[in-house]
Amino acid sequence: MSQKRVLVTGAGGFIGHHLVTFLKQRGYWVRGVDLKAPEFGTTEADEFEILDLRRWADCLQATRGMDQVYALAADMGGMGFISANHTQILHNNILINTHTLEAARLNGVSRYLYSSSACIYPEYRQTDAEVTPLKEEDAYPAQPQDAYGWEKLITEKLCHYYSAEHAIETRVVRFHNIFGQLGTWDGGREKAPAALCRKIAQAKLTGNHEIEIWGDGEQTRSFCFIDDCLEGIYRLMQSDYAEPLNLGQDRLVTINELADIIADAAGISVSRKHIPGPQGVRGRNSDNTRLREELGWEPQISLEEGLGRTYRWIEEQLRARHAQEASAAPVAEPAAVG
Ligand code: NAD
Repeated sequence: MSQKRVLVTGAGGFIGHHLVTFLKQRGYWVRGVDLKAPEFGTTEADEFEILDLRRWADCLQATRGMDQVYALAADMGGMGFISANHTQILHNNILINTHTLEAARLNGVSRYLYSSSACIYPEYRQTDAEVTPLKEEDAYPAQPQDAYGWEKLITEKLCHYYSAEHAIETRVVRFHNIFGQLGTWDGGREKAPAALCRKIAQAKLTGNHEIEIWGDGEQTRSFCFIDDCLEGIYRLMQSDYAEPLNLGQDRLVTINELADIIADAAGISVSRKHIPGPQGVRGRNSDNTRLREELGWEPQISLEEGLGRTYRWIEEQLRARHAQEASAAPVAEPAAVG
């Protein structure tokens, strides 16, 4: 059998960069596409093209000669970014996804996996920190909190109709807060686990053990480590399941608890200063019943283990930055002796 040729869009981003490595290890020929090369480490893709997938011609180029597409490219970030950039997010992601999917169809791609999000779930089901885990069918009647979630829902539907009306099979995964090494950890697009790792590493390195948390920190989420995410996406791509599927952990923790687990990994204790900031919905958890049924599998890596690995990587990044800043600092002029 000839080697399968696979496109990963968003291959310069967090999940995409990891996925390229994962697919290479499994013997695929991989093309990566993104607006930028990966920020942390070099891609293992056989071919990496810098393209803007909002543009139709770039989508045609990206999908040429491919058997499968993992569509991960998106203009996105953590709550701070998502709650403040609705127009940009909706505009850019609609262009990216409608163009990539149609180009894939025209180029004869047989299977296409779209990365949706837990952000599609309606706000009215997530008003309580002790939230009932969300089943896939809870998506409707629709009322996502942000434009980011609305775009994801529309593209889920687009995938459904392409599958029904054309010779392209689609798979749709709804990620629940994926975290790990090699992800954005500062600059405004980082998500809660990375932001907290950075704040706690900063506390450890400076000796000031007070960290800021948006809101009262009692909002709840589940968090899934990147290695489980990769295994889950891969299994879904191989499976026959064509409807949207949750992919996440189902252990609910508060943001305060998340901070405590990270502080343990850092080996320090921190005091929390609660400040106003975007918090998203009050509570969100994944119901993994269908995931278990369809894939015969569910995420395996504990939050403590995943956060420990992520924390250590972010602390290294911060140490390297501090060292660089120290060596770039201007050397003080020697005092004049008269
Ligand atoms: P990421 O921001 O690290 O990666 C997305 C990549 O898409 C970036 O490298 C970005 O440069 C690229 N991109 C943006 N606009 C582009 C364009 N016009 N053309 C080409 N590339 C473009 O995000 P991630 O965490 O790796 O997420 C991957 C996918 O998973 C996204 O679709 C995201 O919405 C979805 N998702 C992620 C999470 C999570 O917790 N990380 C949760 C839910 C859904």
